Amino acid sequence: MISTQQQFHTNQDNNFDAIVIGAGFSGLYMLYRLREAGLRARAYEASADVGGVWYTNRYPGARCDSESIIYNYTFSEELLQEWTWTSRFPEQAEILSYLNFVADKFDLRRDIQFNTRITEAHFDEMNNRWMLQTDDGTSLSAKYFISGVGMHSTTNIPNFKGLETFEGDWYHTGQWPHEKVDFNGKRVGVIGTGSSGIQAIPVIAKEAEHLTVFQRTPVYSTPARNHPYDPEFIRETKANYSEIIREIRKSRGGSILRDYNDRSAMEDTPEVRLREYEKMYEKGGLGLQATYKDLLVNEAANETVSEFIRSKISARVKDPEVAEKLMPKYYYAAKRPALDTNYYETYNRENVTLVDVKSAPIESITPKGLRTTESEYELDVLVFATGYDSMTGSLFKIDIRGKGGMSLKEKWADGAKMRTYLGMAVAGFPNFFLIANAESPAALSNMPVVIQQQVEWIDDCIAYFREHGVDTIEAKAEAEEDWSKHCKEVADKTLYSKGDSWYTGANIEGKPRGFLIYVGGVAAYRKKCDEVAAKAYVGFSLSSARETVS
Ligand SMILES: Cc1cc2nc3c(=O)[nH]c(=O)nc-3n(C[C@H](O)[C@H](O)[C@H](O)COP(=O)(O)OP(=O)(O)OC[C@H]3O[C@@H](n4cnc5c(N)ncnc54)[C@H](O)[C@@H]3O)c2cc1C
Repeated sequence: MISTQQQFHTNQDNNFDAIVIGAGFSGLYMLYRLREAGLRARAYEASADVGGVWYTNRYPGARCDSESIIYNYTFSEELLQEWTWTSRFPEQAEILSYLNFVADKFDLRRDIQFNTRITEAHFDEMNNRWMLQTDDGTSLSAKYFISGVGMHSTTNIPNFKGLETFEGDWYHTGQWPHEKVDFNGKRVGVIGTGSSGIQAIPVIAKEAEHLTVFQRTPVYSTPARNHPYDPEFIRETKANYSEIIREIRKSRGGSILRDYNDRSAMEDTPEVRLREYEKMYEKGGLGLQATYKDLLVNEAANETVSEFIRSKISARVKDPEVAEKLMPKYYYAAKRPALDTNYYETYNRENVTLVDVKSAPIESITPKGLRTTESEYELDVLVFATGYDSMTGSLFKIDIRGKGGMSLKEKWADGAKMRTYLGMAVAGFPNFFLIANAESPAALSNMPVVIQQQVEWIDDCIAYFREHGVDTIEAKAEAEEDWSKHCKEVADKTLYSKGDSWYTGANIEGKPRGFLIYVGGVAAYRKKCDEVAAKAYVGFSLSSARETVS
């Protein structure tokens, strides 16, 4: 076989022990751990600075739905004590400041190359090294290749006819300009009512002359009830972080604040149920879905909470016809639920119109605005809140090839064929690791918890190689098959796989459908990963330069 070495001419300085892609939560911590372990490591980041999605998603109202005190790293007690969050649900700018603080504290920038996109990564079987290429034509090589590309770092702009003819300005929430966008006196159109749209719409409505919202599918949203933190609460939190960390690790969603109780919704009378839902609704945050243990497995139980939220929408929106359009009909939380601040009330404003583009689809973007099959709308500014090409989007932009020149994109081409072992390794792609991607609980959890666990697992795995003289580690096809089957079996027992959303790839036209998340929860996932490590990485083939051990 022809060595890919022959196609690349790497400069000695560009040969690393490990290359990490991305400088968001995943890439930053991975880089830190590798460096601490004494490896020569470098991270490559397409953006101009650290932060990942929090660098790019600067749209009005952008904030986190995880509670700030747990939306952070927990590996360093010093870091936990030095950083102080100001409110329950931090804004984008505060999260970005946090990640900058981390990068400065651990002096990470010296090993990150910004404004550089990795375009190719090919495994060279002669030398057991990954050969990479950047968009500025530089060739690199590394023994370990680790992806922290992010599951929401590639924006999705639906293929609307005529966008290039639009005479106004247009933006995507996920690639927002750094300077303030002025909506004053403008006729603004927002396409999309997922989490980003729900955060941006109330803020834009306050400024715009008129706001027209184009909605395809309504999303269940409940009040965030954000508030500044009391210094006493912060003091207690900082004193109790070790307990908080223990709780998070035992939880299902990587959160202490919305753990699942063990009663069925069907065990309670309608009156008691209503009281329970009211209590959780008043607390704010995402806890409502944890009111009962079976809301995501039992259709009748789910209908009780879905109906409860629909009744709240009806109470919050004055015009019954508009309220009806805003009411989701699918299973609550089967598609990511949103948190809002005055989202539904925004539709009571004189300057806001809701347009249902499911019944009258968008035909084209025109020079003066947008045309649906029913009407024409004149607009000065268009905002795409149309989400991301989630999970595989950023990975598939890179030409990743494993043994025998096998392309990752081709291997996973059909959603039904997507396979990983533990969401971190792929058969045929030795010494390649994934962080926070498919077939892990990341998408359904407070993500820094899973990111931290996976980074530590990968770091331990590499340390094990080095101690035992292992040259390559590769997931076995049967281990991959079993893990994917397990992920599917667990998902099929729930209502998650029954929704049309980015969870299943249904938000992107033509994208193969599949349910790519491990829904067994953070605690069960950690246990499984730890077992694999304790059994000398069972399910992986390890090879030294001389022999292969199965
Ligand atoms: C608006 C928004 C709200 C969110 N709210 C929450 C929340 O409430 N709770 C929660 O847990 N999670 C939330 N998330 C998910 C969030 O993505 C994760 O919590 C976390 O930030 C993921 O970090 P990451 O490092 O894995 O990925 P990212 O932050 O996406 O970072 C990946 C980086 O890799 C870079 N990259 C990609 N491809 C390449 C390439 N080929 N070459 C070089 N660089 C590349 C990208 O530029 C990006 O900077 C939210 C996401 C968004 C967009």
